[in-house]
Amino acid sequence: MTDEIKAVGHKAGGLVIGIAAADAFNEFVPEGHRPGDLLPGAKSVVVAGNLGPTAGAWRCPDHRVMEITGYDFRENVAIHVMCDTIEQRYGHQAIQAGSLPTGGHQPPMSMMLAAVLSGLGTRSLAANIILNPEYGLLYYAALVTTLDLEPDHVLEDDVCPSRHCIQMYRKLGTTPCLASCPKDEGGCLEGSLDEDGRISYSYYDRERCTSRSMNFGIGSLQKSLVQITTEPDQDRRRSMIYSDFFTQSLSALCSYKESVAQCFECMRVCPVGMEHRRLK
Ligand code: SF4
Ligand code: SF4
Repeated sequence: MTDEIKAVGHKAGGLVIGIAAADAFNEFVPEGHRPGDLLPGAKSVVVAGNLGPTAGAWRCPDHRVMEITGYDFRENVAIHVMCDTIEQRYGHQAIQAGSLPTGGHQPPMSMMLAAVLSGLGTRSLAANIILNPEYGLLYYAALVTTLDLEPDHVLEDDVCPSRHCIQMYRKLGTTPCLASCPKDEGGCLEGSLDEDGRISYSYYDRERCTSRSMNFGIGSLQKSLVQITTEPDQDRRRSMIYSDFFTQSLSALCSYKESVAQCFECMRVCPVGMEHRRLK
């Protein structure tokens, strides 16, 4: 049953599929954010991951094109198809785990934790992004089900830092991602490795990163609306409405593409999964 559901997920667009026991979340997150809070009687969480930008998009000289060319919803399709299979073939309930925020930055359930507990990756120094050992940066979606499936093991080895990054840290005291966005130079990242090459300290300024990596989206639309509705000059108000900034803010919400990520710099330099981003 577990193998069949994974095969369905792979066929529907999941590059990687992992499974966690629903109660594995309990020691890490408070009540209200556990699988059983989304679906009473939850037994399993199935996670699907897939690449965001294509290998070609990573090589585009205009970095902003990446904002609008991700294929980042394939994992959601895989989750929906697996939900249908679980409900129609096995007669158990399944629900996609909500991953967009319902309060502040907090989603009902953490996709990062789901990816870690299902053995698909580990936390990195770059904005805590979960890196898959084969592909590096992936986008994740998950479902919660009352079906009892065989869970995967959490990864034993840290994906981050890579061997290359450990060598760089020993020579220069930094890693590619930390050097791309250093906290002390107006960036968002800081961290250190211990003697064994494992992460001993990491810092991520989420608010600063959000304001850079989410230039266009819900926040920018709200900000623009306040400015536009309080602008007394009619001509200026009109030009604000037709500005590129307001147009891209609307576009980000309508297509929900540009709101996924608008800064990839710490991941652009990450060696994990690099071979999949460098094709002919
Ligand atoms: S996404 Fe951009 S702003 Fe955020 S930590 Fe990475 S490099 Fe810095
Ligand atoms: S560049 Fe990638 S592997 Fe290296 S430290 Fe940063 S996130 Fe980890």
